[in-house]
Amino acid sequence: MTRTNTVRGDTSPEKAPTDSWRNQQANEKVVVIGAGPAGIQAALDAADLGADVVVVEKEDGIGGKPIHEKYAALAPDIVETEEVYGPIIDRFLNHDNIDLRDGSEVTRVKGKKGDFTVTVENGDDKDEVDAGSIVLATGVKHFDPQDETQFYGYHELDDVITIVDAEEMLKDERFVRPSDGQTPETVAFVQCVGSRDRQIGNTWCSKVCCGVASKQAIEIKEQNPDTDVVILYIDMRTTGFLEDQVYWKAQEEHNVQYVKGVSTEITRKGDNVLVKGDDSTMGRPYEIEADMAVLSVGMEPSEGTKQMADVLDLPMESHGFVKTEKGPMGSVETPKEGVFVAGGATGPSNLKDSVSMGGSAAAKAVAYVNRNQ
Ligand SMILES: Cc1cc2nc3c(=O)[nH]c(=O)nc-3n(C[C@H](O)[C@H](O)[C@H](O)COP(=O)(O)OP(=O)(O)OC[C@H]3O[C@@H](n4cnc5c(N)ncnc54)[C@H](O)[C@@H]3O)c2cc1C
Ligand code: SF4
Repeated sequence: MTRTNTVRGDTSPEKAPTDSWRNQQANEKVVVIGAGPAGIQAALDAADLGADVVVVEKEDGIGGKPIHEKYAALAPDIVETEEVYGPIIDRFLNHDNIDLRDGSEVTRVKGKKGDFTVTVENGDDKDEVDAGSIVLATGVKHFDPQDETQFYGYHELDDVITIVDAEEMLKDERFVRPSDGQTPETVAFVQCVGSRDRQIGNTWCSKVCCGVASKQAIEIKEQNPDTDVVILYIDMRTTGFLEDQVYWKAQEEHNVQYVKGVSTEITRKGDNVLVKGDDSTMGRPYEIEADMAVLSVGMEPSEGTKQMADVLDLPMESHGFVKTEKGPMGSVETPKEGVFVAGGATGPSNLKDSVSMGGSAAAKAVAYVNRNQ
């Protein structure tokens, strides 16, 4: 349908979000797929701009990884997840312009260029939603360290866990050895598991795991000050403010040790685990006996991201994430007109990246709808 845009360009706050403006300018819907940090921000911003937004989330309940995987606290500020994320989720759930379809999936998208028909299925129920634009925010999955090139014993040794498992234990304030429920005397973090690994084809740096390991090391020391924590890293990539917010803080205030070198293998030694590797500063091999090892697993494109890229007929970039256009000057635009992408679906992203991209995708999605009315 073609509509006359009578007030386009008038963005004064008094006029923009009124009901009459909405009815004339933005009553075409924006569909957001995925309700993690990126999708929630995209939906909120599009809804605040006056668009009617339908959000499709495949899980029952929203929030993405920080909620579904029970993150304890969020870097860089190390503030409890509920404290910073809870109010955003509440606002999303109570927004008049947002229609949440959780426990649902998009199975088909017909049409093009601002005139899409999106099929949303929930069990036996099927609905067709007309949409002017679409934001894809289906996120990432965490690497499963079971690959045959990984010699870290994740599936064999009880006391080898991942940073994802550690989040839930820290949230429950019960960071203990899984095998016997005791407070660990020594914990060794192994960095770059499933990232920067050419053998398995995951050549990228996952961007957040150095910061997350340092954050978790601080939390472990806060909960159990007598536990010794060592982080075994190839390069420490706590970029930007994370450098002093977690990296130096962990060392100077909590006595966390950092050892530079690749960890090659984890085996059992008596009741403990033995992490073997090469200390590149000292130029010699190391063996560190610890009560527990924590694997800093990286990010890969989620199954949902691959599936939705297929449904939307979107190309992937060379690492398997959704391809964006215009390089660094167009981080949320896909080659398909009217379809935008945000967050981990585009590549490894921290929360700030994901939320910023969500906001940018929302602005572009609403502008696109308005331009096409
Ligand atoms: C252990 C760990 C701790 C972390 N802690 C921090 C931290 O402290 N600070 C920080 O900045 N970053 C942190 N991160 C990174 C953070 O998790 C990501 O930046 C963030 O989750 C990306 O948000 P997203 O919305 O793009 O994706 P996700 O969080 O993955 O959300 C995607 C959503 O889309 C849904 N979905 C998937 N497929 C479909 C489909 N087909 N249809 C409908 N819905 C679908 C999913 O169910 C999910 O709800 C951490 C990562 C790890 C591994
Ligand atoms: S953020 Fe750190 S642990 Fe994660 S892949 Fe990059 S260098 Fe490795």
